Amino acid sequence: MSIFRANIEAAAGYVPGEQPKEGEAVKLNTNENPYRASEKVYDAIRAQCIRGLSRYPNAVAQPFREAAAELYGVEPDWIMCGNGSDDILTILTRTFVGENEMLRLPYPSYILYKTLAELQGARGEEVYFKDDWTMTDYFGKAPTAMETAPFRAYPLEGVVPESLKLAFLPNPNSPSGTLLTMEEVEQIAATLPCPLVVDEAYADFAGVSCIELVKRNPRVIVTRTMSKSYSLAGLRFGFMIADPSVIEQTLKVKDSYNCDAISIVAATAAIQDQEWLKTTTARIVATRKRLQERMRELGFVVPDSHANFTWNIWPESDFDHKDLYLYLKRHGYLTRYMRYQMWGEGLRISVGTDDDIDACLNLVEKYLGGDRS
Ligand SMILES: *Cc1c(COP(=O)(O)O)cnc(C)c1O
Repeated sequence: MSIFRANIEAAAGYVPGEQPKEGEAVKLNTNENPYRASEKVYDAIRAQCIRGLSRYPNAVAQPFREAAAELYGVEPDWIMCGNGSDDILTILTRTFVGENEMLRLPYPSYILYKTLAELQGARGEEVYFKDDWTMTDYFGKAPTAMETAPFRAYPLEGVVPESLKLAFLPNPNSPSGTLLTMEEVEQIAATLPCPLVVDEAYADFAGVSCIELVKRNPRVIVTRTMSKSYSLAGLRFGFMIADPSVIEQTLKVKDSYNCDAISIVAATAAIQDQEWLKTTTARIVATRKRLQERMRELGFVVPDSHANFTWNIWPESDFDHKDLYLYLKRHGYLTRYMRYQMWGEGLRISVGTDDDIDACLNLVEKYLGGDRS
């Protein structure tokens, strides 16, 4: 008999994007920010190193909560911080979803949600986006077998709808980069029998947020990360904005010191430098536009991106996206090839510097011209 919990043994485990050695490849595969974070962040880290690290950090990252609360027009007790927003997503799953209860997630989207369901011993239910990446009636009714059957982490027989305990919705979505309006999200939240987590990892690139919804509806929870728009993926800091009644419970679930002293001062300095965020985001959005337009000219189907990447699909089914990915990789450009069962494949390209994107686009063009070197 196995010594492991059955759901752990059965889980595939989340596989993060490739991280090559420094300088080995241009990284356009994990949606990191190509620009260096605000110098104020590095100053804050240096100052903390001088003060020392012998004391435990503030357990709830209070300085960051106060800075974020001011920015978003809420009180600090509406905010909980985590070791990256993945930590927040784990805490939310543990807070709301019991064993054999159900968690709903869209498809194709962020694969981690499914892993979290599996580790929890919960039943995951993946539901299709429509062809145009909308999903208005998607959460409200129980999806039909046709819409979900191939994608369940666990069979649904015998599961009553009341067991649906949590729903995830990345907005903008990954890998598509597409965005639902706040009205659409509000409609989804209103018809759900459970809390809705709006994962806003890329919201700074969209200029649209559901934080206003959180203020109106205690069942809406927004998660954010410093990894993408603030260029601090290596720091590991994320947070959520939710009704204080939710925060009160999730604080019990988190590790006592889930954010370290360095990440707290650094994230606080970062969120206080909105000028840096504005300038850098504008640059990335401008490069995104060029990338998107050029990929379309080259013949790819590219949904309108509201994030810091584009999702590129060749319209004919005989195209081998993986071969293009391997070609780019041989030439030093790392992108993200994705294949979604029953749905299809594509290539996700993160927005890098203008030079890197131009070089990558030239390679794509050469590949389409027949080069296989
Ligand atoms: C990158 C990403 C995250 C994770 O962010 P971290 O704060 O680095 O853990 C969460 N959700 C989505 C959709 C992402 O793309």
